[in-house]
Amino acid sequence: MGKVYLIGAGPYDEELISLKAIRVLKKCDVVLYDRLLNKSILKHLRDDCKLYYCGKESGSHYKTQEEINDMLVEFAKSGYTVGRIKGGDPYVFGRGSEEALRLLDEGIEFEVIPGITSAISALNYAGIPITHRKIAQSFHVFTGKSAGELSHDWSVIAKLNGTIVFLMGLESIEDIVNNLMINGMDKNKSCAVVSNGTSARQRVVVGQLENISKKVKQEEIKSPAIIAVGDVVKFREKLNWFENKKLFGKRICITRAKEQSKEFREKLLDLGAEVVEANSISIKNLSSNLDDYIDKIMMSNIIVFTSTNGVDIFFDYLVSKRIDIRKIKAKIACIGEKTEEQVKKRGIFPEIVSKEYVGEALFEEIKNHLSGKEVVFLPRAKDARPFLKDALLNSGCTVYEVPIYEAVEEEAIDIDLSDVDYFTFTSPSTVKNFIKLYGKECLVNKKIISIGPITKKELEYLGLDSFMANKYTVDGIIEKILELEG
Ligand code: SAH
Repeated sequence: MGKVYLIGAGPYDEELISLKAIRVLKKCDVVLYDRLLNKSILKHLRDDCKLYYCGKESGSHYKTQEEINDMLVEFAKSGYTVGRIKGGDPYVFGRGSEEALRLLDEGIEFEVIPGITSAISALNYAGIPITHRKIAQSFHVFTGKSAGELSHDWSVIAKLNGTIVFLMGLESIEDIVNNLMINGMDKNKSCAVVSNGTSARQRVVVGQLENISKKVKQEEIKSPAIIAVGDVVKFREKLNWFENKKLFGKRICITRAKEQSKEFREKLLDLGAEVVEANSISIKNLSSNLDDYIDKIMMSNIIVFTSTNGVDIFFDYLVSKRIDIRKIKAKIACIGEKTEEQVKKRGIFPEIVSKEYVGEALFEEIKNHLSGKEVVFLPRAKDARPFLKDALLNSGCTVYEVPIYEAVEEEAIDIDLSDVDYFTFTSPSTVKNFIKLYGKECLVNKKIISIGPITKKELEYLGLDSFMANKYTVDGIIEKILELEG
C-alpha cells in the first residue's frame, strides 16, 4: 500500500513552498496537480515521476472531486507514493480535508503539508499587511463563491473591524460589496483586489466599497483574485516592496541546462522576475573518455578549461580514479573568471585566465606562455568550436582534445511561453535545441538576449535578432535586461 501527501505549494511564487514539501515531492511516484500551479514547482520531482493534470484540458472536462479522490485511492492502492499538489494551503478552501477523509475511509496512510495561503501572501505582495496594530486586530477569510446563495450572515460580517478577505469572490464582487454596504459598512471603506498575486502577472486594484467592482471590471481583472476590505489597504502606498523590484512583472525564460541554471535563476528571482525554465539541453558526462589519457594529463604543460562544467567533470573524474592532483604539473588556463573561480574551489590557482569568455581571448593569453613545443590538454565539450585547438596546433603545440561532456537535447515540457518577456540563450546549442523543442514562432517579436557573439551569430543565422550581453556571462545577460528595462 502506498501513501498520499496532500501538499500545499503556496500562492504562486516558486519559492513560497516549504522545505518539507520539496523533500516530499522528490519521493513521489505520481503527482496530481491543477490549473493554478506554477510549473516551476514541478522541477522538484524526479524525472520518472508521473504527472496527472486535474484541470481542464482542451477537449476534456475538469476532473470532479470524486474522480480525483478515486485516482488518489487507486494510485495509493497500487503501491505508489502519491503527491496531490494544491495551491496555497490544502485546508484553505482547497477541499484537502475531503480528500483526507476519503483516504482515511480507505485505510490509506496520508500526510497533509501546509502551504502559504494566498489569503495572506497575495496581500503581502501587494503591499498590504493583513493585520496592523490598532488598525486591524483580526482577519477573517471567507469564500466569496456565489455570494448570493452563501449562508454568510452579512449583518455580522459588515460589523467586523478586522481585515476581511474573500477568496473565489471575483465573479460575485458586486454582491459582496452590496451585502456589506446594505448591512451598514461605510461605503468609503478601503478595498483592494489582488489578481495573480506573487506572480509576474500580479495586478492590484484599490478603491472603496462603493466603486471597487466597477474598477475591477474597467481594469479587466482576471481570476484568481482575492478581495480585501479594511483600512490596512492604505499601507499599499508605502509597503509595496514587491512591485517596486527592478524586474517585477517580467517573465524571463532560461534555456540553458538545469544543472547550470541555479545561480542565474536565483539572481533573477532576487530582482523580482518570474523565471520560466525551458531547459533545452542537459549535460551528459563523458569523462570515461579520459580513461586512455591519464598519462597525457600528467605530461601536459598546460591544461585548458573552457567552462565551469568542464572543470567539475574533470576534477570529479580525477577524484573517482583516486588521482592526486599534486601529480599534475601543468599550468592551468581558464576562460573567464567563472571558470577560474571553479578551479580555485579545487585548491588550484590558475596561471592563465582570459577576461572574455571566448576562445580567441583565451588563446591570446595562452600565447604568452608558449614556446612552441608545449603539450596542451583540452578537456571540454563534445563538438566545441575548433578555433582554440587549431590555433594551438598552428603554434606548434601538441594538443590532446578530449570530450568530457556533451550537451544533449532535453525533452520538451508542457509550459506556457506565450507571455515570456525575455528569452535568454547562453550557447549555440541552447538556440538550436530550444527551437527544435519549442519552435521559432514563440520567439518572434520577443526580446532575445544572447550571452556573446557566437550565440548571437547562431540566432542571426536562424533569422532572429538579439541583444548581446556586454560581459559574456549570465551576470552580463542580467545587466543587459536591466539596461533594456531602463
Ligand atoms: N488553498 C488556496 C485557495 C484555493 S481557492 C489558498 O490557500 O490560497 C482558490 C482561490 O484562491 C482563488 O479563487 C483566489 O481567490 C485565491 N487565490 C489563489 N491563488 C491566488 C493568487 N496567486 N492571487 C490571488 N488569489 C489567489
